[in-house]
Amino acid sequence: MNKDRTEIETESAAKLYQGVCDRFEQTASFIGLDSKVKAIMSQPKAELMIHFPVKMDDGSYTLFKGYRIQHNNLLGPYKGGMRFSPEVSLDEVKGLAMLMTLKCSLAKLPLGGAKGGIKYDPNEHSADENQRITRRFTIALGHNIGPSYDIPAPDMGTNAQSMDWMMDTYHNLYGRKIEDKAVVTGKSIACGGSVGRASATGYGAVYCLAEWAKGKGLSLEGTRFSIQGFGNVGSHAAIKLQELGARLVAVNDHTATLMNPDGIPADELAGYAMEHRGIKGFQPAHEVDEVNEFWALETDFMVLAAMECTVTKENAGLIRTKLIVEGANGPVTPEAENILKENGIAIIPDILANMGGVIVSYFEWVQNRNSEYWNGETVDAKLREKLIAAYQQVERISQEQEISMRNAAYVESLKHLEEVYLKRGVWP
Ligand code: NAD
Repeated sequence: MNKDRTEIETESAAKLYQGVCDRFEQTASFIGLDSKVKAIMSQPKAELMIHFPVKMDDGSYTLFKGYRIQHNNLLGPYKGGMRFSPEVSLDEVKGLAMLMTLKCSLAKLPLGGAKGGIKYDPNEHSADENQRITRRFTIALGHNIGPSYDIPAPDMGTNAQSMDWMMDTYHNLYGRKIEDKAVVTGKSIACGGSVGRASATGYGAVYCLAEWAKGKGLSLEGTRFSIQGFGNVGSHAAIKLQELGARLVAVNDHTATLMNPDGIPADELAGYAMEHRGIKGFQPAHEVDEVNEFWALETDFMVLAAMECTVTKENAGLIRTKLIVEGANGPVTPEAENILKENGIAIIPDILANMGGVIVSYFEWVQNRNSEYWNGETVDAKLREKLIAAYQQVERISQEQEISMRNAAYVESLKHLEEVYLKRGVWP
């Protein structure tokens, strides 16, 4: 029987999942991870795949496929984004769910790891259709999500509006207590979101970058950087870097590659990209046809904030920068990482570089449960404190054990999970 179109796994999803599993296995061997902990961690606890019908604006019905992968809840409720994209597949969300477990453990949050989404392109649907799709998905998820059980958040293709609809649907169906709005994070501030959540991932990536530069005695003033992906993560990272005196000289997204050696105004580009659903056509910058010009441009830093597996063995050799910051999840394949290492290019790995988002999601969850509202200064100070503590711990392990920042991040994360498993025991 032919595979249904919705079941086809993309090559990058398979690569992402394989890459996460390989890195997990390598670290498990390196630290001699307890065999039962290794076995438990190597698979998600639950894999949910659901099909649900939604009425389109023209009266017809379309069947959608949704996923929720709950990787691990040892440290606390499952936590992870919901991705709406035609590329979403089982392998992709399995790999991303495992990264969430590792990220929450590294950040020392009382949260586990999950990921999910719907395999469809929200840009091809009206706002009304997107609302019905999101609400119907929430209904189909039923009690598989909940404020003390599994807490979704925004990711690619979703935003505060998607989370508001999810929260409202859940609240109407099951919510009896005021803190039930903590069923999702990343909501709009009006609906119980936290100040600073939208910018947290991008800013967090920059706080890591700034720590790295400080360690090398480098000032960010006058440095040049490029960014792939100019959505939530990329635009906030670019704006923060620009505030710190760095210059954005190249941007690539799914619509175009733009360059300007004199600098592209990040704040203006962010507004433009939101309005036009991409960067194509923005001035002042010139568009280049060949994406390899983006990879080969000499810069001080490169921020990857688009999607997984965009740096592969085919383009890694072109890159000329000092540091890659992985705002996206899994953007560098293991083969590409070897090439970058040979070329002396450092990487701040995803589970460290983009942990700002889940840290402020955790703050939102805490505020909702206690009916508190923190101001921007409080959120930013708490974000920096947690992030810089994680960064310094990873850097210390990396230097002491002479391993990459990625390996060090995996070591720290898995050791924490192992300690908790061994203390609690595996019942019965
Ligand atoms: P988004 O949907 O807001 O933006 C995605 C960006 O990637 C867009 O600019 C889009 O044009 C670009 N893009 C998509 N496909 C591309 C391609 N083939 N080539 C070049 N560019 C492409 O998503 P986001 O929330 O900014 O997430 C970006 C990445 O960061 C994802 O990997 C996501 O998992 C990760 N992440 C996001 C958060 C968060 O808080 N939003 C937290 C942690 C990690």
